[in-house]
Amino acid sequence: MARHTGPVCRLCRREGEKLFLKGARCLTPKCPVEKRGYIPGQHGPNSKAKRVKTSDYSLQLREKQKVRRLYGILEAQFRRYFREALKKRGVTGEQLLILLERRLDNVIYRSGFAASRANARQVVAHAHLTVNGHPVDIPSYLVKAGDKIAVRENSRPLTYWKVLGEEKNVPGVPQWLSPDRSTLSIIVQSLPTREQIEAPVKEQLVVEYYSR
Ligand code: SF4
Repeated sequence: MARHTGPVCRLCRREGEKLFLKGARCLTPKCPVEKRGYIPGQHGPNSKAKRVKTSDYSLQLREKQKVRRLYGILEAQFRRYFREALKKRGVTGEQLLILLERRLDNVIYRSGFAASRANARQVVAHAHLTVNGHPVDIPSYLVKAGDKIAVRENSRPLTYWKVLGEEKNVPGVPQWLSPDRSTLSIIVQSLPTREQIEAPVKEQLVVEYYSR
């Protein structure tokens, strides 16, 4: 279960926009994208000119990197998702995003059960969850329509879940998910459509990148 272990704020700075990888901190003035809006590295403050994206290739590359970093996935696994999307009917870029959205860690994040995808990944990997009554600790597990995700009985006394259960439902949960904080469970109503995925990405550029 490989993952990026370096400083994540550098990833946002490299892409030149907020990717919201750190939960609540991303909404504060402490966000490094707000304080240092230039790419990281020793030439940082003088590198603004380099951020002007000129070639098609650089646009495609940056978009691919942005999607990958948004979902916290390394290159090899991301390529596998792309190959999987190619096999599916429909628009490949949309199918790619739908696959990424179906990841269990993303579902936990989107449902407001974790502050960030990294946090959600930890929640899943620490075996706090069941899917349809079976324990699942794989963040890349792909949910299906009708799945019921729940917090395991043994985990419910933990402070994290107690606090979450007492909070009101968070706004902004996509329609394809129905989280219930009182029962600490989530129903996957349907698979997401592109319109329901609020990722600020141009997936067609990712397709073009891998189709070179
Ligand atoms: Fe990105 Fe959040 Fe860090 Fe800001 S605080 S740079 S949005 S991860």
